[in-house]
Amino acid sequence: MSEQSAAAPASDEVVVIGAGPGGYAAALGLAHAGRRVRLVDAGGVGGTCLHRGCIPTKTLLESARVADEVRRAAEFGLVGGDPALGPAAVRADWPAIRARQARVVATLAGGLETLLRGSGVTIQRGWATFRQPGADGAPRVHVAPVEPGAGGGGALDLAPGAVVLAPGATAARPPLPGLSTPGVVDSDGLLTLAERPRRLCIVGGGAIGCEFATAFADLGTEVTIVEALPQLLPRAEPEVARRLQAAFRRRGIAVFPGSRVLGIAPGPVPRIVDGTATRELPADVVLVAVGRHPATTGLGLTEAGVALGPSGEIQVDRTFATAAPRVWAVGDALGGPMVAHGAFHQAATVVAAIAGLPPVPTPALAQPVFCRPEVAWVGRTEAEARAAGADVRVARVPFAALGRAHAAGEADGFCKLVADAGGRLLGAHLVGAHATELIGAACVALSAGASAQGLLDAGFPHPTLSEALGETAGLLLGRPLHVPPAR
Ligand SMILES: Cc1cc2nc3c(=O)[nH]c(=O)nc-3n(C[C@H](O)[C@H](O)[C@H](O)COP(=O)(O)OP(=O)(O)OC[C@H]3O[C@@H](n4cnc5c(N)ncnc54)[C@H](O)[C@@H]3O)c2cc1C
Repeated sequence: MSEQSAAAPASDEVVVIGAGPGGYAAALGLAHAGRRVRLVDAGGVGGTCLHRGCIPTKTLLESARVADEVRRAAEFGLVGGDPALGPAAVRADWPAIRARQARVVATLAGGLETLLRGSGVTIQRGWATFRQPGADGAPRVHVAPVEPGAGGGGALDLAPGAVVLAPGATAARPPLPGLSTPGVVDSDGLLTLAERPRRLCIVGGGAIGCEFATAFADLGTEVTIVEALPQLLPRAEPEVARRLQAAFRRRGIAVFPGSRVLGIAPGPVPRIVDGTATRELPADVVLVAVGRHPATTGLGLTEAGVALGPSGEIQVDRTFATAAPRVWAVGDALGGPMVAHGAFHQAATVVAAIAGLPPVPTPALAQPVFCRPEVAWVGRTEAEARAAGADVRVARVPFAALGRAHAAGEADGFCKLVADAGGRLLGAHLVGAHATELIGAACVALSAGASAQGLLDAGFPHPTLSEALGETAGLLLGRPLHVPPAR
């Protein structure tokens, strides 16, 4: 039975479609601003990020990190363990790792649901589609139960005052012969494998590929990565990507940059062309991680007047309003930058637009990659800054100059800063331990329009890895402390 007939006038309710980071952040912000909010999702609250993305992968990476640290115990003067396990000292118990992952996800999902309900948000399980807009131009939304009779309630027809779309993205499926071969999976499939593979071939050396390469290699899987572009993490500063590639190779991860996968035969055996030679890479599992596509089909978006781009991405203006009246959109469905913190910021902008609050400033959006060594950057690469016409200054300081890096046994890494001739920061690039945490300070600096002088004056605590930022700013200004002056 319909809760509201299609002819009903628009209510003051805001319907948010999709309960991932974009959707739940919009729902919470609007509820805090005093709006009545209904958050619709076909799955659980938290979306890709919580159930199939950020959180399960980082939980898996933490198991891998602990395994690596235990293996390195002797380096820190610690002996013991089970001699039967040999130098490895630990073995990955895949079901136990997956059980821990499930517990972390369940804890966070429960917390998020409590937070949403406590903030007054109505959580609606179901699949949302647009109907023809009403005569008053208001959007009309139909919500169908995902599991009929499973207690999620019946179908609903809603005439909300506004809609926020946040349907996310799904793994891209390239037109590759043999993609349906058994053993070929996307990131969702890799996270739910019953057994850890002995040999894993990863097609795609972006953030998702590099993170899974790290996790599985550190848990004992033989890993190969094939990347069509000349470097891993194609959008990273090239010297950062080269350092990561060298570190991967030292740890036994086979890396084939500038190589194309021609097809996958049963086995599964990906066949790649590497320069001019063609070779086969037998594997137990092949992960295809070549990007993500906006999940914008099956929602009736075109019928509702929402304009889509060539890849199905939702087209929006600066306030994330779509072409349809009273319909906004945020998150991965916009086609980029496809990070959770990007979706959070877009949601804050939409909340401000709908609730009539002051506009939200645009942040410097960092790209964190949780591989080992970690990689993170914010702002422009050196080449991007030059292409934009800046008179560019750069400086780089190795982690080997930092006392804390040696104490932690993590001296492999560096920080590179890009600034204009006046010292204004244009970009920060880090590869090394805890780069994904260190980048936060660079985000503050870039968002505030700070200069290298500002970063130097921040007085980073000693001995910490965060000194990499201050040391690099000092070098850029010709006043280094723990490294010789640039010539
Ligand atoms: C393996 C992996 C690792 C990642 N790691 C990171 C990371 O470390 N850091 C980071 O910032 N980002 C990471 N991401 C990206 C991050 O997960 C996404 O950027 C983020 O989830 C996007 O949020 P969203 O709200 O746009 O969409 P999503 O989180 O995808 O949520 C969309 C939701 O909409 C629902 N939905 C869609 N259509 C409908 C409909 N018609 N009716 C009802 N419900 C619908 C879906 O069920 C889903 O729950 C990772 C992604 C993957 C795949």
